[in-house]
Amino acid sequence: MDFQELQKLLVANALNYGEKYNVKIDEDFAILKLYEELGEFSQAMLIHRRKSRPEKHLPEELSKEEVAKELADVLGMTIVTANLLGIDLEKALNKKWIHKDS
Ligand SMILES: [Mg+2]
Repeated sequence: MDFQELQKLLVANALNYGEKYNVKIDEDFAILKLYEELGEFSQAMLIHRRKSRPEKHLPEELSKEEVAKELADVLGMTIVTANLLGIDLEKALNKKWIHKDS
């Protein structure tokens, strides 16, 4: 699957979420949701690193799975946000991270 296909599927998923829960998927939603997901990722990392209340601790493999899920949410919402803002994220990644001189 290439980046464009992935983006299409993620945007379709976000739109389905919007329809299901009667939420308008616009730039404001996407940016706020991205912050929510970053918070969830942060919480998952705190639990994974055992820097949370002991009752939240999970076995290593489970806590790592939770970190992976929340990181996937962060990436998904980043891609949805880029799409809503009309940004070609693949091009931006190439320019900013890979071909820094061009
Ligand atoms: Mg999440």
